[in-house]
Amino acid sequence: MGFCINCGNQHQDGVRFCRFCGTAQPSEQLLARLRAESEQIRLLVLQMQQQTNAQNDAYARLEAMRLQAEAAARNQQNQQYRPPGW
Ligand SMILES: [Zn+2]
Repeated sequence: MGFCINCGNQHQDGVRFCRFCGTAQPSEQLLARLRAESEQIRLLVLQMQQQTNAQNDAYARLEAMRLQAEAAARNQQNQQYRPPGW
């Protein structure tokens, strides 16, 4: 069973035209190609998500380093600008 690409009504596999709206239906060959393409896209999206996760990890590590450097700089500044007599 398949579904019309235009009206969505169910029809038998292999029909060339929808019996409800008359729209030409994609051939099995085209459907197979589209399924293969959609699988490829799904894999690409997965890959991109993994890359984004890795990037977010790297950003998180960089941010932690930046905060440490900032804190260290603040400590040094406090020591440098400590008023005389302390
Ligand atoms: Zn139809």
